[in-house]
Amino acid sequence: MTADSSQTYDFEVGVYRPPSEGGSFSLLLRITRNCPWNRCAFCNMYKIEKFEVRTPEEIKADIDAIAAICNELKDISHKLGLNGRITRDTAIELINRHPELNFHHGFVMVFNWLQSGAKTAFLQDANSPIMKTDQFVDVLQYLRKTFPSLTRVTSYARSKTLSQKKLDELIAIREAGLDRLHVGLESGDDALLKKIKKGVTAEGHIKGGQKAMQAGFQLSEYWMPGLGGREMWEDHARNTARVLSAIDPHYIRSRPLFPQPGTPIHDWQICGEFEMLSPDEQLAELKLMIENLDVTSKVCFDHAANYWRNSQGGLMLSHGYEGYQFPQEKSRVLELIEDGMQAGNQVPEFLHL
Ligand code: SF4
Repeated sequence: MTADSSQTYDFEVGVYRPPSEGGSFSLLLRITRNCPWNRCAFCNMYKIEKFEVRTPEEIKADIDAIAAICNELKDISHKLGLNGRITRDTAIELINRHPELNFHHGFVMVFNWLQSGAKTAFLQDANSPIMKTDQFVDVLQYLRKTFPSLTRVTSYARSKTLSQKKLDELIAIREAGLDRLHVGLESGDDALLKKIKKGVTAEGHIKGGQKAMQAGFQLSEYWMPGLGGREMWEDHARNTARVLSAIDPHYIRSRPLFPQPGTPIHDWQICGEFEMLSPDEQLAELKLMIENLDVTSKVCFDHAANYWRNSQGGLMLSHGYEGYQFPQEKSRVLELIEDGMQAGNQVPEFLHL
C-alpha cells in the first residue's frame, strides 16, 4: 500500500502508563481522559484535569492515524531499500515529509513501538473499563483488527468498576482483546481505605479482583507500603495480605508511599497528622505483609521507591518486572528482608521531597 503524504497524523496520548509498559515499548492509546474518581489522598496524577470518556469514533480515528504512520514508515523503508525495516532513516524521511511530527510527543512512542515489533498496547487513562461495555468491546475489536501483531493489550482499572460490571461484560471485554488489568489496591484495610478516600472497601477490592480473575484477565494489583504511617501500619500490612490472598492475582506490585507535594497526605505529614515510617519500620511492615501473604502470584518490587539495600550494599530486592514466584520464593524474600534489616537503611536523596 502506498501512503498518502497529505495525511495528517493527529492523535492523543495521555501522560501516564505503568513502568512495565515502557519496558516493552507499548503503544499508548487514549480511551478516556484522566480519572473518574480523582480523590485518593496520595495521588497527584490527574488532579487538575477533568474526566472525559472519548467516543468510539474519536478513538478509532486515533487508531487510523497511528496505522497510517506505520504504513508510511513501512512504505519509506521499502523506497530506501530497507525491506520494511524501521530505522532512524525512515523516521527522518517521514519527518521531512511531515515536519509537524517533530512537535508531536506521540510520534516517538509510535516509532519505538513499531520498531520493537508492535507487540503490546496500553489503554489510557486511569480506568478504561468505565466505558460502556459495548463501546469498549467495539474499540478493542477495531484495535485488534487494525494491528494483528498485538500480543498483549492492557489497561488500568478501578476495583469498584470491576466489582460493578457484570461477569458477562468483563468476559466480553476480555474476549474482545483486553488481556491484562493494572489495579491500584493500595491497602486491604477498611479504616485506611476510608482515610485515604480510595472509594472502595476491602470487600469491593476482593469482589472486583476475583471477578477479573474469573473473567480470565491477567491481573496486576499494586499495594502501597508505608501508606498507613506509624498509626496504622500493622493493620495495613495484615489486611493487605488478607485481601491479596483472597484475590491471588497474577502479579502483586509494591509502590512504597513517598508523599507528593500538593496531595492531602503531604499536607497531613507537614501538619504532623501523618508520620512516615522510618526505613527500619518500613522493612518491619514489609516483612509482616509478606509473612501473611498466601498466594501463587509473582510478587514484584519493580519501582525505584523499593530502595532498600542489603548488608552488602546492593539492592535488597530485585526490581525485575517478573519479581519473585510465590509460594516457592516466599522464604527467599523473607531472608532478603531480614538481611536488609541488618543493613542500617536510609532513605536515598532522590526520594527526599
Ligand atoms: S483512582 Fe488512581 S488515578 Fe484516580 S485518584 Fe485514585 S490513585 Fe489517582
